[in-house]
Amino acid sequence: MPFHPTDAQTALRSEAREFATDEIVPVADELDHEARYPADIMSALGERRWAGLTLPESVGGLGRGYVALALVTEELAAASMPVASALNLHLGVAQLTAEHGTPAQRDRWLDSMARFETVAALGLSEDNAGSDKSGIETTAERDGEGWRLTGHKRWVSNFHEADLVCTYARTGDEPFPGGITAFLVDSEAFTLDREWDTLGARPVPACRVTLEDAFVPDERRLGAVGEGYRHRSTVANGVNVPARGVGIARAARDAAATHTTDRKQAGNPLADRQGVRWELASLTRRFETARAVTLRAADRADRGLDYGRAMATAKLEATEAAVENANDALQLHGGIGYTRERSVERYLRDAKLLTIAGGPNAGHRDALGAAVVEEHR
Ligand SMILES: Cc1cc2nc3c(=O)[nH]c(=O)nc-3n(C[C@H](O)[C@H](O)[C@H](O)COP(=O)(O)OP(=O)(O)OC[C@H]3O[C@@H](n4cnc5c(N)ncnc54)[C@H](O)[C@@H]3O)c2cc1C
Repeated sequence: MPFHPTDAQTALRSEAREFATDEIVPVADELDHEARYPADIMSALGERRWAGLTLPESVGGLGRGYVALALVTEELAAASMPVASALNLHLGVAQLTAEHGTPAQRDRWLDSMARFETVAALGLSEDNAGSDKSGIETTAERDGEGWRLTGHKRWVSNFHEADLVCTYARTGDEPFPGGITAFLVDSEAFTLDREWDTLGARPVPACRVTLEDAFVPDERRLGAVGEGYRHRSTVANGVNVPARGVGIARAARDAAATHTTDRKQAGNPLADRQGVRWELASLTRRFETARAVTLRAADRADRGLDYGRAMATAKLEATEAAVENANDALQLHGGIGYTRERSVERYLRDAKLLTIAGGPNAGHRDALGAAVVEEHR
């Protein structure tokens, strides 16, 4: 079914594009080169309550849907993927709190989360829980009015800025995805173990952190006991990952088009060559396909339709478009593309993360393939 953004969604996209152009693009390379957290930008996003974009207005959010989230995320990521990443990892936790939190948790946290004054990080992955989260080893044991948490979390993005880490721990022996419970744990309860030196996403470092017999009151339990992992599938925030891919795929296409029309060799712009035009056509086709399938997945989620297959398709299409477009754009820049003087090398480094984070693409291929086989069995 064709999908067309509403006037309100188009206006929001324009606002996000203006913000990204004015506030993020001028500093994006610098943030990357210096691995500097985009503190001012995140505060400005909070002032607009975009950190609560999809939260209900009744709790301080903007009450927008996942199409709006995908549009805003594309614009932010076209300027700086890590900015879009920091916003969305936080908003994913806020969304779970809005949908599965107690009234007291919603009252206490959501308004301040929408303003990015209380910052949340995601503590899901572990050393032995990567693409397969059934390997979660962190445990939470009942202790009076609360729980004792012991274990570690790996790759916690935004940990340094976070007030809360949404921490997934085993609370029972039920087979996965059961037996896992989520807790909103104060970041101060963790010990920093290490911070990785990553290829891309450099302004928002990922950390390994540990918990040793940390007491967490039951009022910090997010959702039902044993249902934490299942609750994750009730929110469609994951669309932010393909949306970030769309942003990079578009930025790479634009950079390639600008460079090849400016740069002359043998007396003519590179873009006068048929081979270069075909490359630009491929860059455009990939970006537009990625955007279409991403918005379709978001639209299905907004309409309350099943979005599993659409989301897997979007994740694969958009994240691979981001890598391919960034790679081809770098090639079309020649030597200068291989330097830090241009943004295309950053696009390529940032894009690569998207095929791994949010679950490696192999897992999404598995899920999509399994659904097709099931349908035709
Ligand atoms: C920079 C960064 C930031 C991150 N931020 C967060 C965060 O904030 N919070 C959080 O909880 N996690 C975060 N993650 C973790 C991320 O979600 C995991 O890295 C991801 O789920 C993959 O897990 P893994 O790295 O252990 O890879 P593995 O599970 O070890 O997989 C490695 C590779 O094996 C292959 N593979 C895996 N499964 C299959 C399969 N079924 N079929 C065929 N091949 C397969 C794929 O090529 C895959 O890339 C982050 C990761 C990075 C690198």
